[in-house]
Formats: sequence, structure tokens, C-alpha cells
Amino acid sequence: MINIPKGTKDILPSQVYLWQHVEKTARETARRYGFREIRTPTFEHTELFLRGVGDTTDIVNKEMYTFLDKGGRSVTLRPEGTAGVARAFCENGLAGGAMPFKGYYLISAFRYERPQAGRLREFHQFGAELYGSAGAFADAEAISLADAFLKSLGLCEVSLQINSIGCKQCRAVYQQALRDYFRPHLAQMCEDCRARFEKNPLRMIDCKEEGCKRYTAAAPRMIDYLCEDCRSHFEQVKELLKESGIHFTVDSSIVRGLDYYSRTVFEFTSSAAGAQGTVLGGGRYDTLLEQMGEKAVPAVGFAAGLERLLMVMAAEGASIPEEPKADCYLLGMDELSRKKAFSLAETLRKSGISCEIDLMERSVKAQFKYADKLGARYVAVIGETECREGVAEVKEMATSSSERVKFEELAQYLLQRKK
Ligand code: ATP
Ligand code: MG
Repeated sequence: MINIPKGTKDILPSQVYLWQHVEKTARETARRYGFREIRTPTFEHTELFLRGVGDTTDIVNKEMYTFLDKGGRSVTLRPEGTAGVARAFCENGLAGGAMPFKGYYLISAFRYERPQAGRLREFHQFGAELYGSAGAFADAEAISLADAFLKSLGLCEVSLQINSIGCKQCRAVYQQALRDYFRPHLAQMCEDCRARFEKNPLRMIDCKEEGCKRYTAAAPRMIDYLCEDCRSHFEQVKELLKESGIHFTVDSSIVRGLDYYSRTVFEFTSSAAGAQGTVLGGGRYDTLLEQMGEKAVPAVGFAAGLERLLMVMAAEGASIPEEPKADCYLLGMDELSRKKAFSLAETLRKSGISCEIDLMERSVKAQFKYADKLGARYVAVIGETECREGVAEVKEMATSSSERVKFEELAQYLLQRKK
């Protein structure tokens, strides 16, 4: 028996309904905010992620599924959705269309990580991207979409933390202040932090190592170093969120793992997700396109991990609509009636009724048992007499009451009761 690869999961029919509910909620929320779906390839040239995600990130350094294809080109399974959308945005000249561009995606993403609860090698994301506006309204709209999505899923114990990591100019000053602060402690810090010290000291702030956390708590905070423009941008974002009743806390330790962020960064976390508490993360990335060698266009977006969301929904006991059951089971009592059941089923299905017939040559008793297992609301029994008279004995399973219904009226009968 060949087993499933480490860090991947089968989503079985009994679970798919949950996934479809989350996906439907994502699509429906995105629609309300005017975001339209965009689909990009599952793999891209490796170079795209080196430039777009950045070579000081964990994703690029440790987590990419990169391989040479048969033509000797280096390609990578997408570890996230933003870089691909950015490429598509430029390559298709979308900046020439109506702005802002507002797109969303529902994708699989791939990262070579140590698998654990809420951390997989193939996982799923709902993400949104807004291009063309540098204003605080765009940040607030992206956050509001994320918030509405989580609320539509019925999640109550998810909280929003926001921060500003400034622009290139003020961040450079801050980075120097961070280096000055961490320098005397560097020898006691983890290997990753020592590597981050020169390249990306901001990442030292969100190090999860206990030994490092001792120092990060008292580290200088970016919000104290924001330049005037970045400060007022951040104030506006906060004000817009307050005005629309979106609760948040400012958390200066949020820096986000990716190199392309600037100004607003945010995370929605839940204690119900255990150690992998971040269910959704995002921010502004005004320098992403420039970093990819394209003309700069300001942008803001987020991505939510669907596996983690499902964990939180289960932990919170969020209510989800029930999986629809079969409307009707057509029970043929003998050979001739089974044939009649088959052709009747076709007619019913054409009218939009979900129905099932016996495919296992079961006895009448076993068929009733199976119909019950399916949760079929009605069982239409057809025997010799029924075939002759052109009627079915329709039993409502919940009440055990039954009525005789003409074959040609069966679809109408069931449709009326479906409402
Ligand atoms: P983490 O700090 O947990 O590694 P991240 O910063 O790497 O998260 P992002 O790149 O921001 O995550 O991805 C957005 C969201 O995708 C995360 O908030 C999380 O919900 C989800 N996610 C990221 N990596 C994984 C993974 N390996 N398995 C499952 N979900 C993931
Ligand atoms: Mg990660």
C-alpha cells in the first residue's frame, strides 16, 4: 500500500461539505466587497518567488518545493498566492483597466515544513489582493473583508492585531535601532536570529524561541519610529476600523514573515487554533512590484489558512448548515418495479430533485434501512400493483405517514415539499 505523502491530507466526502461551506462563504463575502476571483498557475518560475517573496524569508530559504522540469527550467509549487497574482496583474496589463483592481483566490499552497496540527505541506488559502490605492481606505477595506469573512463563518473568538512597519525610510532608522539594541545579546540568541540580524532584524521581533523572547519583549517598537506620513496613515486606518465597529489591538510585535510588506500589517488569531494561532495574515505591500522589477503600484491584501479556520470553527462549535440529504429514495419491490424506479429517478433528477435507487440488489427491508441511512426524506415504494396503477406509495420517513401519488405528479409533489 502506498501511503499519502507526509504533510498532506485527503478531504473525504464526509468533510467536503464543511470545505464547500467555507469556500462558499469566502466567495459570497468577496462578492459583497466587489472582489472578483483570479486563478493563476499552481507552479511558477522559481525566480518569481525569489524576487516576490524575498530571499530573507523562511518560505524562500527553507520551505519551497522547487524542482527542475524536463526542460531543465527551475519551477516552484506556489508557497503563497500574492506573487502569482502580482505577476498576472503585470503580465496582463491589469493596471490599464478599472482601478482599483480587487481580486481574490482560493488555492492550494505548498511549503516544505515540519507537519503538525494546522501546519501542512499542502494547505489551502483564501486570499484577497487590492491594487492601485495607497490610501488608508484600501487597508481598512481589506481588513474589513477579512473581518466580515470570519464573522460570516460564525467565529467569535478571533481577534485582530494590527501594526505599522513603516516605509523604507523610517524602517531603516528603526532597523538600526533594533541592531543597536540586539547587538549585546546576539551571542545568547538563536542561530536564525543571528542570521536575521544583518539581513532582516525585524524578524527577530517575532522569534518563537524562548531564549530570544526574553530580549524581544523590551526591544524598540516600530510605531515609535514611524515617519509623519506613515504615522498619519496608520492613524487613519485605525480610525476607519473604529468607525466601522471592527475591534482591534495594536501589537508592535507583528512584523509578518514576508519581505514585501510596508506600513499596515495585521493578523487575526484565535486561541482555539492551538500553537498555530494565526488564521489570517496580511498587510500592505507597496514595494512588491518594484521588487519584482515592475512599475510600482501600491497594494494591500491578506491570506487565510483554511485548515486552521476549520480547526477554529470546530473548537468554537460554529454552526454550519446541515449537509443536504437525498430528497427521495425510489424503492422497487421486484424486477419490473426496479426498472420503473430507474426511469422515474431520471425524471425526478431532471426536475432538480435528488433521489437514489437500489444499485446493490438489496431486499425490500435492506433498501428501507439504506434509505434511512441516507437520511432520505421520502421513500417512494413501487411494487407490482403500483406499476399497474401508475402510482407510488410515498412515505415520509420522519412521520411514517404515506400517500399514493401518480407517477407523473411525483416530481411536483416532492418539489412542493422541498420548499
Ligand atoms: P506561520 O507564522 O504560522 O508560519 P506564515 O506567516 O508563514 O504563518 P502566511 O504566509 O502569512 O503564514 O500565510 C497566511 C496564512 O496561511 C497563515 O496565517 C496560516 O493560517 C496559513 N498557513 C501558512 N502556512 C501554513 C501551513 N504550512 N499549513 C497550514 N496553514 C498555513
Ligand atoms: Mg510560516
